[in-house]
Amino acid sequence: MDAYCREYMRYLGIAKTARRSYAESERLLKAAGFRELSSFKSLKAGDKVYRGCEDRTILAAVIGKDPVAKAGLKVVGGHTDAPRLDLKPRPLYEKGGIMYFDCHIYGGIKKYQWLTLPLALYGTVVRKDGSKVQIAVGDEPGDPVFMISDILPHLGKEQEQKKVSEFFPAEDLDPVCWSTYAKAKDDGEHDAEDGKPKADKSGLVAYLKKTYKIDEEDLLSAELEIVPAGMPREVGFDRNLITGYGHDDRVCSFAGLKALLDASDNVPAQTAAILMCDKEEIGSVGSTGMTSSFFENTVAELIERQEKGARDIMVRRALENSTMLSADVTAAADPHFPDVDSTGNEARINGGVAASKYTGGTSKGGASDCGPEFVAKIRKIMSDGDVTWQMAELGRQEKGGGGTISQYMARFGMKVLDMGTPMWNMHAPWEIVSKFDCYQTYRAYSAYLRS
Ligand code: MN
Ligand code: MN
Repeated sequence: MDAYCREYMRYLGIAKTARRSYAESERLLKAAGFRELSSFKSLKAGDKVYRGCEDRTILAAVIGKDPVAKAGLKVVGGHTDAPRLDLKPRPLYEKGGIMYFDCHIYGGIKKYQWLTLPLALYGTVVRKDGSKVQIAVGDEPGDPVFMISDILPHLGKEQEQKKVSEFFPAEDLDPVCWSTYAKAKDDGEHDAEDGKPKADKSGLVAYLKKTYKIDEEDLLSAELEIVPAGMPREVGFDRNLITGYGHDDRVCSFAGLKALLDASDNVPAQTAAILMCDKEEIGSVGSTGMTSSFFENTVAELIERQEKGARDIMVRRALENSTMLSADVTAAADPHFPDVDSTGNEARINGGVAASKYTGGTSKGGASDCGPEFVAKIRKIMSDGDVTWQMAELGRQEKGGGGTISQYMARFGMKVLDMGTPMWNMHAPWEIVSKFDCYQTYRAYSAYLRS
């Protein structure tokens, strides 16, 4: 368990964005002998393949003895995007003499949690000629960080009376990125005409040009993300908990990846696969999200390499015969907030991996509501594999709700059950999971992929 958790914490520290998760996952897959699907003319049992989508979403599989067209896949599917602040296309602006990054919220966050924290900047800038620059600032020793400031308590009387959702507008969730007054003299004096020193934008633009060889205009075609700075840490004297940014859903995605890698030398009957996908936190939209055709196209690509005269009906049958564990986190009961517990059906920290028959809101809207037959099958696999698991729902009715990719996968006719790590602080800059639950998540996916 400890070795597994150390490996997970290492990955989590690297995988601060979906692209970085993709790069690290691809590296691990290649090291284990997986090759890009496009390099295969045909596929046979035991082949290890992966297919990527725009450097953000990836499917990896060990080909089984039963043809995909007949047996479909068994999939562990998670996501690697996480709530954050994205830089707007024209992100540099000045206010009160200070330069800020203008940001747009990505995913569901509680805005106040992002104030007064050291923040890092990660992402990719693509120049007009197609060349790319990778940016990573804030996590290497000696790196600067970025920060969103807040009102001091001495002057915060009015702020504290406001609703939490309203006291800090989303448009102000912008970290400071440059504050040098170019004309300041070494003795600390300045010659600002009105006595108000003003950060010099041209200094910032020149810095970007010198450091990254990009112009301000290049930021129009960039994917730059503000995320918490800092590496995952153990919590408590007993070091039983792990806090880190983006457990949701890298804790499940990594468990799936690791389970597949560890099982990759056994040839399964049914093809065993994992999905690590993007854009779950904003509704699984876009070409890299699970409402796209990436999954079914990949199944078609697999079948085309196994069957002479592959036909569309084979893809449809394969999808319908596939099954999936939707590998995403769920809420664990927090002793500080018993009012949102699902009266006996809540997940517990240290209770093991948590299965959810349905997610969704009060009316189950947006849930895939897995049938009892498939739940029973998974129960059997978990007990045969000696996995500690718990059945849970996200929270009390009329308190809110949430979803995963399960509903989008279930539309293919696949049997899908949500199963993932229970956690505290979901979507906070620093989320908390227990080592035991992390490890049981890995063991659950291993048992399923080997079943
Ligand atoms: Mn999630
Ligand atoms: Mn989430």
